[in-house]
Amino acid sequence: MAKRQLVGLFGGTFDPVHIGHLRMALELKRHLGMDEMQLIPCHIPPHRQLPVVDAERRAAMVELAVADCPDLTASRLELNNPAPSYSLHTLQMLREQNGPESALCLAMGMDSLASLDGWYGWEQLLELGHIVVAARPGWQLPTRGAVANTIARHRADAAALREAPAGAIIIEELTLLPISATDIREQIGRGESPQFLLPDKVWDYIVREGLYR
Ligand code: ATP
Repeated sequence: MAKRQLVGLFGGTFDPVHIGHLRMALELKRHLGMDEMQLIPCHIPPHRQLPVVDAERRAAMVELAVADCPDLTASRLELNNPAPSYSLHTLQMLREQNGPESALCLAMGMDSLASLDGWYGWEQLLELGHIVVAARPGWQLPTRGAVANTIARHRADAAALREAPAGAIIIEELTLLPISATDIREQIGRGESPQFLLPDKVWDYIVREGLYR
């Protein structure tokens, strides 16, 4: 039997993308032995306020960020859709593109997992893919409510990603870099340089386009 393809999917606003995002994507891919890891900038984020920069230029920054990294790719899948970028729809599109056998692995932080029951169509997500959670050392799982029940039913070891195309929740402990896009936007707004918090090519693009000032 052919080896199951493991496809990592890391969605976000990426306003702008920074090395915290990139290291998390890279480390998850390596730790879990994924075949690819796609960064998917959203068009309109459903769960938060509108991004400062338009989707086209946020995607351009993600493309610049991964241009020299063979492990990471940028996806424009959500850009062409004028509706809010729901992960459920993205998984449905990717399931159609990738066929029934590949393991689609939706990457997220523990905060996102804890509030999963607020996501559109959340109960169907695990029918379409796996959820891989990047958790900081000292992480804690939600202990009560619908999400806690779902975790109890679906939590598995990383090996489960190869055993089925969907249905497992994997928690992977990673040291996440303490960097946030909000802080980067604020630094630029104050006229300070955020150099070294994001790839040079992305910072050059921000300067060229006059973003976040
Ligand atoms: P903002 O500050 O604008 O809220 P953000 O970086 O927290 O930005 P997104 O760009 O939407 O938010 O992030 C996409 C994903 O990356 C989210 O799941 C978020 O949890 C995760 N993430 C954000 N910062 C880091 C970091 N430093 N390390 C690892 N993952 C991160």
